[in-house]
Amino acid sequence: MWNDIKSNLNSSLVYLLEYILFVFVISLAFLLLSNNTLNELLVYLLVIAASLVIIFLVGKKRNRELIEIKSIIDNISTNKYSNTDEIILSKNLESLENAIKKMYQRSKNDIEHLNRLQKVRSQFIANVSHELRTPIFTIQGYIETLMDGAIDDPKVNKQFLKKANQHTIALSNLLNDLIDLSMIESGELRMSYRYFNVNDYLKKIVSEMKHSAEENGLELILHPVRNDLEIFGDKEKLKQVFVNIIQNAIKYTDKGKVEVFAEVEKKNVRFIIKDTGIGIPDESISRIFERFYRVDKARSRSVGGTGLGLAIAKHILEAHNSKIEVKSKLNTGSEFHFKLKK
Ligand code: ADP
Repeated sequence: MWNDIKSNLNSSLVYLLEYILFVFVISLAFLLLSNNTLNELLVYLLVIAASLVIIFLVGKKRNRELIEIKSIIDNISTNKYSNTDEIILSKNLESLENAIKKMYQRSKNDIEHLNRLQKVRSQFIANVSHELRTPIFTIQGYIETLMDGAIDDPKVNKQFLKKANQHTIALSNLLNDLIDLSMIESGELRMSYRYFNVNDYLKKIVSEMKHSAEENGLELILHPVRNDLEIFGDKEKLKQVFVNIIQNAIKYTDKGKVEVFAEVEKKNVRFIIKDTGIGIPDESISRIFERFYRVDKARSRSVGGTGLGLAIAKHILEAHNSKIEVKSKLNTGSEFHFKLKK
């Protein structure tokens, strides 16, 4: 009871200055207008007393509102609400109620977003560990077998060393891709944009990859590109995109050819990499850009895939305001295309 009165009084004190000013004005008016009769003095005292009561009641109301707001804040901080409808303040505090609801909804969304990110991160770490484990255990297996005596067996020793070496290459590819991906995602990978000649650029990339295509019995064709055609972008990072997509076309094509086109449009150049390969099932098309997603894990691993190439390519193209698109038909072939600014 006493505490209540004290806290109401405390709230009233906020208006103390206004109150003193009020008393001063009343007193001044009284002095000027009155002849100081007893009755007038009584009226004066009555007015002062009434104003004291009013200011106390105002403080009390204010205190009640503060208690209401404090209880809402306490409930939010102890997670008592499940939605904004549960946040209710008195009618006269409607605008404050709306502001609190907005703030609550926003922090709720932020928390949900952070939780989702945390989940994706944990899943990514689990995937990375799994991907690292496979080559490490395989290399370990070959080394142990060699140490247990296979090193002296001329029929298998070289083969085991070759296999262990293949897995160290896979491991290093994976680490390189992981470093690229983390640099892209953390924004550390700076792009360096400039104009460069498309014909020279594609000729060089295709000639570097021709050998790998021929080894797989495939023809790698670069269709004629206008000599003076230039695009604007990061030459080195875009090379990673072209190499990855052409390499995939070679990896996932058993017979036939891989073709590269550069079609000139009004403001862009449209690049198409087309193969006559195994194709991608409809339900996987939207997923092949996800990190570690592969249609056929075993095939991807056997051809040295990391499952990260297209995720990296997508990021690099996004940094160029471009989007990679795919058309594919199972057992017929796939077509990857994207545009770059002229
Ligand atoms: P990977 O290292 O496994 O090739 P990518 O991210 O480059 O990883 O590709 C993801 C998956 O998309 C591949 O594992 C493969 O299943 C599929 N893919 C990509 N390119 C082609 C293609 N040209 N033809 C068929 N499948 C493809």
